[in-house]
Amino acid sequence: MFLSFETFQANLANVTEQIAAACQAAGRASESVSLLPVTKNHPLEAARYAFDAGIQSVGENRVQEALGKIDAASFEIRWELIGPLQSNKAKRAASSFSRIQTVDRIKILNALQRFCEEAESRLSILLQVNAGNDPQKAGVSIEDAPRLLETALACSRLQVDGLMTIAPLSEDSNVARQCFAALRECRDSLESSFGVSLPELSMGMSSDLDLAIKEGSTMVRVGTALYGKREYV
Ligand SMILES: *Cc1c(COP(=O)(O)O)cnc(C)c1O
Repeated sequence: MFLSFETFQANLANVTEQIAAACQAAGRASESVSLLPVTKNHPLEAARYAFDAGIQSVGENRVQEALGKIDAASFEIRWELIGPLQSNKAKRAASSFSRIQTVDRIKILNALQRFCEEAESRLSILLQVNAGNDPQKAGVSIEDAPRLLETALACSRLQVDGLMTIAPLSEDSNVARQCFAALRECRDSLESSFGVSLPELSMGMSSDLDLAIKEGSTMVRVGTALYGKREYV
């Protein structure tokens, strides 16, 4: 059985408290970090719970699964894509998600820009950076990030809000911490070399959100700590 709304609320209170404590320890305002509930592999109710709790956006990992939920939802919430995007799905993705966090190559930028031109729309994106240099993870390398940003800034229909990363899986918490620090440094260097503002740093999940907040995260993407194990869908 999927968890009850009451259990979700209790989990949400715990996560919110954890975020506030991490912010306080880092000398940051708790409003400087937002929480993106990750509803992938959970029924549509997971997003409904977030909506009922007053949360404005949720994250989904797979385009196909997300589109089914977006079409079925009878409530208004923003959906962010946090999983891989193929260019053949760019059109549906650009029209259904309010932001795509996983743009990691020029081909996808071009596909999104083309679609938004046709639709006369605009789209917010994050560039996904493989800041932990993990062969298992998607994302542009830190070295290639400037070239990707340069192209993104030339896409008139796309708004680059910042960067996103997923830390490598490791027993050693230094690995995640170094990855998060590397993303922040990459952001700082891109901001100064391009003279743009890239405020959003989407990094940190259930198991490493404290570290991410210490290193400057502005958005933590949390699934398990809110909804439990993903075993329902
Ligand atoms: C699944 C997922 C999350 C959430 O992970 P939890 O460990 O369940 O909090 C965050 N980010 C991305 C990109 C994911 O795919």
